[in-house]
Amino acid sequence: MPPPESPMHKLDQLLFENTFARLPDSFHSRLKPTPLPAPYLVSFNADAARLIDLDSEEMSRADFAEHFTGNRLLPGAEPLSMLYAGHQFGQFVPQLGDGRAILLGEIRNRAGELWDVQLKGAGITPYSRQGDGRAVLRSSIREYLCSEAMHGLGIPTSRALCIVGSDEEVYRERIETAAVITRLAPSHVRFGSFEVFFYRGQHEQIATLADYVIARHFPDLSNDADKYQLFLNEVTQRTAKLMAQWQAVGFSHGVMNTDNMSILGLTFDYGPFGFMESYDPGYICNHSDPRGRYAYDQQPQVGLWNLACLAQALSPLIPTEQAHAVLDGYAPAYHQHYAELMGAKLGLGNTTLDDIQLIASLLEMMRSSHIDYTNLFRGLGNFDSAADASNSLLRDQFIDRAAFDSWAESYRARLQHQPGTDSERKARMDAVNPKYILRNYLAQSAIEMAEQQRDFSEIDRLLALLGKPFDEQPGMERYAAIPPDWARQIEVSCSS
Ligand code: AMP
Ligand code: MG
Repeated sequence: MPPPESPMHKLDQLLFENTFARLPDSFHSRLKPTPLPAPYLVSFNADAARLIDLDSEEMSRADFAEHFTGNRLLPGAEPLSMLYAGHQFGQFVPQLGDGRAILLGEIRNRAGELWDVQLKGAGITPYSRQGDGRAVLRSSIREYLCSEAMHGLGIPTSRALCIVGSDEEVYRERIETAAVITRLAPSHVRFGSFEVFFYRGQHEQIATLADYVIARHFPDLSNDADKYQLFLNEVTQRTAKLMAQWQAVGFSHGVMNTDNMSILGLTFDYGPFGFMESYDPGYICNHSDPRGRYAYDQQPQVGLWNLACLAQALSPLIPTEQAHAVLDGYAPAYHQHYAELMGAKLGLGNTTLDDIQLIASLLEMMRSSHIDYTNLFRGLGNFDSAADASNSLLRDQFIDRAAFDSWAESYRARLQHQPGTDSERKARMDAVNPKYILRNYLAQSAIEMAEQQRDFSEIDRLLALLGKPFDEQPGMERYAAIPPDWARQIEVSCSS
């Protein structure tokens, strides 16, 4: 008989094991979170709680919010802020660091995984520069929902445990209120965590950090003579795959600075992100990026540019030629993943060069007809491959009907080489083409209800909805609707 499952942990039983805190002092600053007055729980994510074996009943404790603002410290926590640097919009900034995030520590779960528990918005740190160390409720809700939406989509990401709010005022373009979001991730080490030591000429620290990351996340590489090169290769391959996943789902990060790039290939540091709605390869989600450095179609090449920054920071450990060889593997990996993911969106296996052309011409038609990216692919699952089918529901969305007809003819011909029936293909396509994404207007509705009425129910509704983005979820269809007119005015910037 299997052993009875041991009970989940109460707050004071969480098993902290703080490996990052054991690194030399030059890697971080120890500090206490700044208390946030009268905190209240905004939302709790039971799914994420399981990652740290936390008993969900604990959310009802009167002092729960106190712990997830840092007003009270959990036993075993060793709070610190991490040091890093970064290339921001192409410019190197020699010192950044967590300006408002405080790592409480790492929790070992019963599966043996270590999870960073980080409070974002927990007050000033030595790296705050001009900032106030706070995060506003608005951006905390956006990050909370988006990280869980990405997880639901099967895209590597930091997770979100809860949001705690307060009536403390925070000054952005307008007066807003403060919140703390608790993020969970296997690591918050960034490309910039290495860059800071390279530009300071502290090469020993680069090796210390690389050895730490390898031991914790890539233990199989530990004893290899080429371990640093293999580590760079892992980051390169993961980043290539992540970029393909972002492109395939129509996600724009918005601020792909090297300090926002995870060495584990996770999506993190959510700010002015956006899911593309009407298809436009030049889509810029960040109002603070008018030149479109981080536009949707730039992301794959920015991923490589950022990896080149990482490779440079690792140059004391990896000979140049080897680093170049690793980076040369980025483009083929990216293209292969992209082809597979996009092929799957069309219900195709073994994507060929001709298929890439088929995908490209569909995208071009979508662009010229301003068609909703998510909904078109979801609808394509219903494509009828019979010779005389009109597919009018799809066809009517395109301005150039003749172009659609000719595309549909090529698609139909291609499907004849694909085993299985139309309904089998639809099932396959529905499993990769989401029905629900975090549209800006959905997030905005949840934010307005929270800000204006202190009603947090829409956050919980979206959390549940976006956790299963591929399911039809009868009754929820309106959440798949294209944006209403009022949503055109939503502007998302770096201000958070
Ligand atoms: P981001 O663009 O959000 O990744 O932030 C870039 C840097 O600015 C990071 O080091 C952040 O920690 C820091 N930062 C952003 N907002 C604030 C704030 N309100 N207070 C202090 N530091 C901040
Ligand atoms: Mg950041």
